[in-house]
Amino acid sequence: MQAIFTCDDAGASTAPRALEAFDAVVDWLGSVGLEGTFFWVPKPGEHPEVHYETWAAHLDAALAAGHEFQLHGLTHGTCLEFGLTQESTRPSNPAPFEDYEARPDYFRREHSVENLTAKLREARDIYECAFHAPPLVFRAPCFGMCANAYAALHAVGIYHSSSRGLDPTATAYTITKDPSKRRWAPDYPCHPWVEPPGVTEYVCFEDLTLSGVPSEEYDDRLDLYKSELEHFLAEATQKTVLVFGTHFSAMYATWENTCRLLEELFDWLSGCGVTEWLTFADHVSP
Ligand SMILES: [Zn+2]
Repeated sequence: MQAIFTCDDAGASTAPRALEAFDAVVDWLGSVGLEGTFFWVPKPGEHPEVHYETWAAHLDAALAAGHEFQLHGLTHGTCLEFGLTQESTRPSNPAPFEDYEARPDYFRREHSVENLTAKLREARDIYECAFHAPPLVFRAPCFGMCANAYAALHAVGIYHSSSRGLDPTATAYTITKDPSKRRWAPDYPCHPWVEPPGVTEYVCFEDLTLSGVPSEEYDDRLDLYKSELEHFLAEATQKTVLVFGTHFSAMYATWENTCRLLEELFDWLSGCGVTEWLTFADHVSP
């Protein structure tokens, strides 16, 4: 089975620690022989040119090492930038729902096809300035997505999306520690599907390292990963590709544990037949 290592929020922050974390993940990917797909935020904050200048050398080093960048929202200023987050994320992240429910008229306008298309055109233009090619894949911030956002993606010529999380219930367990959430409860099928009017959606396997991997939780977390992946692999079809989700800042928070866990997991996955790691671009346009 093919697998894609994805890592979110490149460009989202110019804080020195964020850049340090990004560089560490790039180095680590090289050490384990993986070429990854980073989802890049084109316009965080008020001064995108400062953001790009700060990141440029880091982006170039990652590109030279074989990694790639795809599009992660426009500003990533809110989880609701492109639609509402999945209901199953409510226990671990209730704020977007409270905001959405308090201002329904605002979000109806905010999530119109016209408005989302304008956001994506701007995002695509900034992306093209940075990478000299159009983005092929979009990921909505926090997996906040809607039907109009797929229509907008299609309108700007982006036909691949990884904007849905597979099992946010299991992620909620790692954040809330509520044992009732430590279970396989997928929101979507494990194989890609087509959203109208013609955007292929590749569901993202949950980032179970999002809240870090403390030493006392290491064994439980590895066990949960394997359990979730066993379900995923059991439901896989010939079209299935494992889109593995991570965040470099979260990885860096418990760096040694997280790297050790992922390396152990990737060894285990290779024994399960997941052996062909590639970038998103290589998967969608081989
Ligand atoms: Zn993000």
